[in-house]
This record gives sequence, C-alpha cells and structure tokens, in this order.
Amino acid sequence: MSTVDCIVMGAGVIGGFTAWNLARTGARVALVDPRGAAGAPSASWASAGGLRAQGRNAHEQPLSRIAADLWPGLQDALSADLELSQGGHLHLAETEAEVPAIENRLAADAAGGIATERVDAAQIRDIAPEVTGSALLGAFSPGDGQAHPGRTAQALARACAELGVACHFGAPASLLMEHGKVTGALAGGHALRAPQTVLATGAWTAELVAPLGLALPMRARGLQMLLSDLALPDILAPTVTAVGRNLSLKQLRSGAFMIGGRWFARPTGRGLQTLPLDAHAAAQWAGAAAILPRLSRHKLVHQWAGTEAQSIDGLPFIGRAADGLYLACGFSNHGFQISPAVGALVAEDILTGTAALLAPFTPERAARIAPDEIAAFRDAPILATA
Ligand SMILES: Cc1cc2nc3c(=O)[nH]c(=O)nc-3n(C[C@H](O)[C@H](O)[C@H](O)COP(=O)(O)OP(=O)(O)OC[C@H]3O[C@@H](n4cnc5c(N)ncnc54)[C@H](O)[C@@H]3O)c2cc1C
Repeated sequence: MSTVDCIVMGAGVIGGFTAWNLARTGARVALVDPRGAAGAPSASWASAGGLRAQGRNAHEQPLSRIAADLWPGLQDALSADLELSQGGHLHLAETEAEVPAIENRLAADAAGGIATERVDAAQIRDIAPEVTGSALLGAFSPGDGQAHPGRTAQALARACAELGVACHFGAPASLLMEHGKVTGALAGGHALRAPQTVLATGAWTAELVAPLGLALPMRARGLQMLLSDLALPDILAPTVTAVGRNLSLKQLRSGAFMIGGRWFARPTGRGLQTLPLDAHAAAQWAGAAAILPRLSRHKLVHQWAGTEAQSIDGLPFIGRAADGLYLACGFSNHGFQISPAVGALVAEDILTGTAALLAPFTPERAARIAPDEIAAFRDAPILATA
C-alpha cells in the first residue's frame, strides 16, 4: 500500500494537466490509467485538437482566456513538440439568415474579453483564400489555433514522471471506498491511499461513481473524425467552422485536412468503443467540401471515433462530489482548449480551496435538475449530430 497527497485517475489531458500542476507544487501524486496517456478510445486520443476560445459559454470564457495565455509556453514547459500552431479560428455565415448568429457571437465574445473580430467576405478571402467564396460574414479569433491532444497527454505523463509522480498505467483501476468515503484507488491490485482522489476519467466517470450512489447527468457519446490524403502544407491556416453546418475543418502540419464537427459514431457494445458511421462520414465530408472546394480533389484516407463525456448543460462537472472525491469530467466535446487552465485551477482548488472560477461547474448543480430530464438526456437515441 502507498500513500500520497493526491491520486489523479485518468491520464487524458484533464488528468495530465491536473497531476502535473499538483506535482509542480511538490505534492506527492499518483496518476492512474488502465490505458495510459491518451489511449483509445479516450477523448484525448480522438480529439481534433482545436484551440478555440471564441464562441464559448460565458462561464468558460475566463478559463479559455487563461488557457490561451498558457498554450504558447507549453511546448517549452513540457520539452515537447505539441504540433502547436496559431492560425486562428474562422466561423462563417453562408446566408443572410445566419448573419445574426455571427453578430451574437461577436457580442458575447467582446463581453467576455475574447478577442474575436468581425470579418467581411474580402477579409475572409485574405485569411483563407481557398474557402468558399459564398461566405458572407465571419467571426475570426487570430489567437486561436490547434495542437496535438495525444502528444500533449503523453508529454504531460512524461513530465509528471520526471517530477516523481507515480504513474500506474496499464492495469484495471477502481475507487477505494471505506465507510462511504473515498480513501484512494486500487490500481492493478495495488492499494493507493490519499486524502483526495480526482476523477478525470471522462466518459468512464459515471460507472466509477455509481457505487457511491452518485448519478451524474452525463452520457457517453462517440464522435467521429475524418482525415484526407496529403495536400501541400499551408493551404488553410485557420480552423474553419460554419453556423449552418456541423463542421470543424483544419489542415495539419503534415498537409492532411482533418474534419470533425460533432458527428456521432456507432456504439459497438464493447465497453465505450465506437465506430465511425459511413452515412455520417459521407455527410461530414460533403459539408467540408462545400466550405473548402479543393477537398473534392482529395481522398478520405482514415477515420476514427473516440468517446467523450457529455453533460446535460454542456458544462463540465468540476469540484468536490463526496468525502475524499473531486470530479473533473464532462467536457462535452470542447475540453482540450481549456485543459491547461482546468488542470491549474483544479490543483489550486485541491491545495487551497480558492479557485472561485470553478464555482459555476460545481457537481452540486446536478441536484437541481429533474430526474426525468436526466433520464431523457441519458437515454436519448444516437442521432447524426450533437
Ligand atoms: C472526436 C473529438 C474531437 C474533439 N475536438 C475537440 C477540439 O477540437 N477542441 C477541444 O477543445 N476539444 C475537443 N474535443 C474534446 C476534448 O478532446 C475532450 O474534452 C478532452 O480530451 C477530455 O479530456 P479528459 O481527460 O477529460 O477525458 P479523456 O481524454 O477521455 O480521458 C479519460 C481517461 O480516463 C481513463 N480511465 C477510464 N477508466 C479509468 C479508471 N477506472 N481509472 C483510471 N482511469 C480511467 C481513460 O482510459 C482515459 O485515458 C474533442 C473530443 C472528441 C472525442
């Protein structure tokens, strides 16, 4: 049996940043994950890696601003190439009816201190010359960009190990409970004890907390991604999304185009594994080709699906949930950009109890939601998109 100050379960980007921030203060930390850092089918393994501060919920804007300041220094801090680039994020209106959505986003971002600019058709052509000429208006956040989520989680695990974090990877793990209190974790039969255990276990959190009688208003959903063959690099600098489409489109450093956009995948019945649906992939590709016409000259060469924890109100659950238990889960398809800020704030909250910015995400808000509303959310059929 080992005793540490804090156990972090889950070595995706949320658990990784949490463990790293705790360890940097000198705390004794254990990081536990049956799959290791960013193993399939975790969200951090599958993620599109978009760093988008624009268009966030008002409660997430302060976290997004902190994260936007942290991202540029992370490659040095973690001594790793995270494939970080800051080509901006461009959100498009293609019809007059969609223009108010852009105006609303610009107003909300300005109110939250997010630097998003109004760009007209000519400016859109300058920012992304190959994007469809039919775009009328856009919201452009030049500080946004992309990074590689898998590389980020793996770099965090390495940095944690260098700081002396005990990494327990590759074996089944569960919560250790005594007299209704969480006292640690079991990792591969090894008992770990700590006054605080953080569950950064994404879509797996619901099953882990069920023995405590906690019913979180969350559901697991597979999201699918597409990758094209290689194009010349530097054709598309920003990540592009559009008001009227479920689309996120970016070009990777390799030259390949990566296409996401909240398209659901098919559950396989094997744990939380999901598989891309061909019908969804066809619609997903067609939507991207409508925005970037050159895609019709390219081929789809790879597709995959990973599993994300979606919360009922689209906001994560962050905070104490039971004696000895702290939750950081439910990032609802947009947790990567804010993950450095979440990790720093969770560590601060655990050590000092002073992270006021996390108050809107308290797990206690679940108690204010009607049980039939929660049941309907969890049992909703898998449709095309989120
Ligand atoms: C396809 C896709 C595209 C996305 N695109 C974007 C994007 O462009 N921008 C953005 O900001 N966000 C995006 N997201 C969301 C973002 O990737 C996630 O919000 C984020 O990765 C969540 O990280 P996490 O650490 O909470 O969860 P995960 O990465 O899912 O990690 C949870 C970890 O818990 C581990 N675990 C499970 N059971 C146990 C156990 N018993 N004990 C210990 N560990 C356990 C798992 O093995 C896993 O490693 C996307 C998500 C998906 C799926």
